[in-house]
Order: sequence, then structure tokens, then C-alpha cells
Amino acid sequence: NGTMRVNVGNVDSPLQIFVRAKKKINDIFIEIDDYVKDAVTFMHAVSGENGIATPQDVANVEAYVSKVEAIREVLKRDHMKVAFFGRTSNGKSTVINAMLHDKILPSGIGHTTNCFLQVEGSDTDEAFLKTEDSEEKHNVQSVSQLGHALCTTRLQESSLVHIYWPRELCALLRDDVVLVDSPGVDVSPNLDEWIDKYCLDADVFVLVANAESTLMLTEKNFFHKVSTKISQPNIFILNNRWDASASEPEFLDQVRSQHANRCVDFLSRELRVCSPKEAEERIFFISAKEALLTRMKEREKPVSSPILVEGHQVRYFEFVDFERKFEECISQSAVQTKFAQHSRRGKNIAADVMAALEQIYTTACNMKATKVEKQRILQEQLTCIEEQLTSITRQMKDKIGKMVESVEHKVSLTLSQ
Ligand code: GDP
Repeated sequence: NGTMRVNVGNVDSPLQIFVRAKKKINDIFIEIDDYVKDAVTFMHAVSGENGIATPQDVANVEAYVSKVEAIREVLKRDHMKVAFFGRTSNGKSTVINAMLHDKILPSGIGHTTNCFLQVEGSDTDEAFLKTEDSEEKHNVQSVSQLGHALCTTRLQESSLVHIYWPRELCALLRDDVVLVDSPGVDVSPNLDEWIDKYCLDADVFVLVANAESTLMLTEKNFFHKVSTKISQPNIFILNNRWDASASEPEFLDQVRSQHANRCVDFLSRELRVCSPKEAEERIFFISAKEALLTRMKEREKPVSSPILVEGHQVRYFEFVDFERKFEECISQSAVQTKFAQHSRRGKNIAADVMAALEQIYTTACNMKATKVEKQRILQEQLTCIEEQLTSITRQMKDKIGKMVESVEHKVSLTLSQ
């Protein structure tokens, strides 16, 4: 239903860094919104005929209302994005399903992902998908139905299908992680277009490689392109299908260190996206199939082949370790790239509105000063007139006094004659 969603995500998860930062910056923007609206009301109150603010002053402050609204809209939709790449059948869809603890994406033979699939949280209880060019919601009840829907909707390899899945069913979706599955890098010649369309805002890239073979040139080339377009991309390498190593335990360590060295070399020396030490923390040997199976069993969901081979627990722990490091990386990166810019803009808007108000204050002060000055001059004139009057009156008094005296004198003279 459409009621407010209370986020009760896993409080221990590193993803909470992002979730809390998002809540905080949203709250800050609610305050900025109030502040700007108050400023507009104030500007209206001091404008008009003989007012202090000009219509232009009012319009300038009013313009910030829509700016703040636009940022709040973007903020509401901000999420963490991870994109998965690799050759067809390396297990990208299986990795995503394992991370989501459920079979959401169709995987396996006959279900080659031939377009981009973006899995994100839906606020309703229903699962549905939308293609890029229409607003129509296709209901999805099951994986097979999703697979079918993807086959019947004619899709190009560079088109995007949004899959909305109930947030309450997956911790990652609840915490605003968006996962993007891609067609195999071996099948597409349009790598540049892919990167421009779907990767520029990705916080993390996961290369799903096959532990049964070495990194292929097509896989490497793709990431060479990525690193020319994005500065310092965060790349994880999953050597998937590591369960295959169980059949040859005598070569396990040797094969692992060979793969690991090549991957470290690729990230640190070829791509130069991190130091060799950091690269070691970005490389994992896992079995997505086993991880998914383990989680399906935990949820008591039906599984086709419940048998797990030797060493599955160690591989599962490594998968969990990957998830933890991935969560730390994606939340920190997303906070930096998404919120740093917004908080700068918020600060600028608050400063601009304050400057506008200060200017009004200065104008008001000047007007007051002018009035006071006028009054002072008037007062001076009054005092001057007063003084003049006093002096005139005094002179008149003297004059009259003297006149009276002389008249009296004359009268007394006349009388004495
Ligand atoms: P995608 O094309 O990269 O998305 O690959 P899928 O996820 O569809 O996987 C292709 C096939 O490989 C499926 O049949 C999976 O069950 C299988 N698969 C995926 N991960 C593993 C794994 O870790 N071990 C094994 N043995 N098989 C796997």
C-alpha cells in the first residue's frame, strides 16, 4: 500500500551509513525548504508600493523554492547502484540472486540476459517490470514468468528493463541498493554506449569471472573503457564457480594464488584503480550457486539439487565477506558522490537567501538613517527659529520697555510743568 515506509533495515549493515546520511540530508533539505518559504513570505511582506524589497528581489528569492523542491525530488530517489559485468554464463544472474536471497532473475541455459535488467525496491507488495519506453506495469508472479516476459517483450541488447521487487523481501533493496545485470561483455559490440547509458552513475562494478579460466581480454577491455570514462571506479572481482576446485583439491592453493595475482595485477598495475594491497581486498573466490542454494534452504524454499560439495562452507563465508566489503564500499562511495554535491548546493542556497535578506536589512537601515537625518535637520531648523524668536522677543521687550520708560518720562515732565 502507499503508506509511509518505515525503514527497519539491518542496523549492523554498513549500508546504514548511506541510509542514515540520506535521512539526514533529506531532513536538512526540509529545513532549507521551510527557511526559503519563510524568506519568500517575508519578502512579500516588505515589498509593494513604498516597500523595501523590489519585485526583482522577491522573484530572486522565490526562484529558490523550485530549486529546493527539485533537489528534494532527486534526493528521494537517490540510491546506491552496483553493476555486474562478465562473460555470458559466468554467473552474474546467480550472484545477484544470491545477494537478494531469492531466485529473482532467471538464470541458466536458455535464459541468457540479452538486455540490461535493473532490480530495485518496490513500495508495494507486488513485483512488476517496466520497459524503458512505456509506463505499463507487467505483473511478475514468478521467475519463469519473468523469463517469459523478458523473451516476449522485444528487447535490444542495450535496452533497460526495470524489475521492481517488494523491498520487504530483500535487505539490499530495503536499504536502497539497485542492482544491474548486463548482457555478456562477449556478445556486445556497443560497450561505449553501455557505459554512457548505464554505468556513469554506478557506485560499484562487479566483474563476475569464471574461476575455471583466466580473465579474458573482452572482460579486461570492458574495464579499460570504464576506467577511461570514470575516475577511480570501485571494481570487485568475483572468481565464481570456485566449487569446481573441490574436484581437484591438490591444485587448489596454486590455482587460487595464480588467479589472485593476475587479478591484483589487473586492478593495480593495468587499470591503476587501486594499490596492490587494496586490490587484494577486492578479489574473492566464491560459488554463487552454492550461496544461493544455502540461502534458499534457509528460507525453506524448494531447491532442485540440494547437494553441496566439499568446502562449501568456506566458500560461503568468502561470499559473505565479499558482501560486507561490498556494502562498506558502496555506501561510502554513494554518500560521497551523491550527497557531497547536494550538501554543497544546500549550503549555497542557504547562503544566497541569507545574503538577499541581509541586503533587505541594509536597505531598511539606510532608509531609516535617511529619515533620522531629515528629522535632525528639521529639528536644527526648529531650534534655530526658536532661538531667533527668543532673541526677537527679547529685543522687542527691551524696545517696548524703553518706549514706555520714555513715555512715562515725557508724561511726568509735562505734569511737572
Ligand atoms: P549469467 O549469464 O552470467 O547471468 O550466468 P547465470 O547466472 O545465468 O549462470 C549460468 C549457469 O551457471 C547457470 O546454470 C548457473 O546455475 C550456473 N552457475 C552459476 N554460478 C555457479 C557456480 O558458482 N558454480 C556452478 N557450478 N555453477 C554456477
